[in-house]
Amino acid sequence: MEQAARGLLEYLEQHGHTAYEVGGCVRDRLLGYPIQDIDIATSATPDQMLALFPRAIPTGIKHGTVTAFWQDHAFEVTTFRIDGSYSNHRQPDQVQFVDDITLDLARRDFTINAMAVNRRGQLIDPFGGQQDLERRLLRSVGDPQRRFSEDALRILRGIRFSARFDLEIEPQTWAAMLDCAPMLTAISRERIRDELAKMVGGVRPRRALSLLATPGLLPFDEWIALFASIPIAALPSGYSVLSERGRWVALWLQADWELERCRRLLRSWRFSNQEQRDKLHLLAAVRALPRATTDDRQAKRLLLSYGLALMLEAEQLTRWRSSQVDFAETSRIEQRWRRLDAQIEIREPRQLAIGGQALIDVFGREAGPWVGETLHTLFEQVALNGLPNQREPLLAAARKVWNEREGTN
Ligand code: ATP
Ligand code: MG
Repeated sequence: MEQAARGLLEYLEQHGHTAYEVGGCVRDRLLGYPIQDIDIATSATPDQMLALFPRAIPTGIKHGTVTAFWQDHAFEVTTFRIDGSYSNHRQPDQVQFVDDITLDLARRDFTINAMAVNRRGQLIDPFGGQQDLERRLLRSVGDPQRRFSEDALRILRGIRFSARFDLEIEPQTWAAMLDCAPMLTAISRERIRDELAKMVGGVRPRRALSLLATPGLLPFDEWIALFASIPIAALPSGYSVLSERGRWVALWLQADWELERCRRLLRSWRFSNQEQRDKLHLLAAVRALPRATTDDRQAKRLLLSYGLALMLEAEQLTRWRSSQVDFAETSRIEQRWRRLDAQIEIREPRQLAIGGQALIDVFGREAGPWVGETLHTLFEQVALNGLPNQREPLLAAARKVWNEREGTN
């Protein structure tokens, strides 16, 4: 990828433009971190780029961005630009293309994100980003008050970068963050959710969470209720070893939130259905665990609902909370779950050796709700009680179910 990027820069230069690698990749390289993707900034206008890269996709053409392909790698290439005025604390009303990299760097949020490198490896760093990285400081480019007023999301981005790279927030930048925090209400819930999710799921989550819990920072009652109700510093060490969903569940457990309250939070901040389910299932499983520790049938029910991986994670979370690390005990508990899971022969009613038609034929009754109900009862007996999944035993069990029903009616 690095080589392809250099090739692309060269190609742009050969056609009379200037071009740089810019932003996150420059920062990550200076830190010695692996590079995810390389963003490119250039003096070429969007029209010129589309002419130079016939296969390019105009991903954000209004803001000057196209996705260009070079040696099988995709790059976001953006025309140098300055942002017009901001009237709503989130997006510039219009952008203006320019031909000077320094102007482009000046619109970026933090000094560590406002560096560029040219094809020959020369660093363009007009705001002292490299020095700030060395001193481990997060600092706004230009007047912080103005920059956060332009786009309040930068406040959360800043906290995320501070945690991720272990940076102190420079005092004026921090003061402006607190000052401008009420403007976060102008930002869409999705964008705020994305930032919070990256912080909970990212590196040094406890640092991010304790910054977020600062009084006056988040202008949202539910988030304050969650983050400020827990002494973050008291989250057991090893918090960052948990999976992302484990971290959410750990927060809710520490704050002692009911399932319904968690569901409301996730829904109103527009987490996807999949993400809601994932987290809420884990919470439900942790809550159900005490009843299943000695009751194999209950345990198998949980395995059927949630699967082995989730139950093992629920166990892990429970032990993490009680700070128990008895390895022998842990492996005994895990072995029990694996053994019970292996005993479950089928996971869904449709895996039964007989179907609804067989019941209708054998009992000579009309189709009706009784078919599904009977199949479900048989399914539970096979899955939970070890009834053999074969035609004769199943039919015998179905007959017994029937006789019991008739008897009670
Ligand atoms: P990551 O590794 O998380 O992607 P990144 O630095 O690449 O980090 P992006 O969100 O991908 O972050 O943005 C790319 C660059 O665009 C940033 O480095 C920064 O220079 C600039 N940028 C992004 N969002 C903003 C913003 N809201 N305000 C100002 N500049 C921004
Ligand atoms: Mg990026």
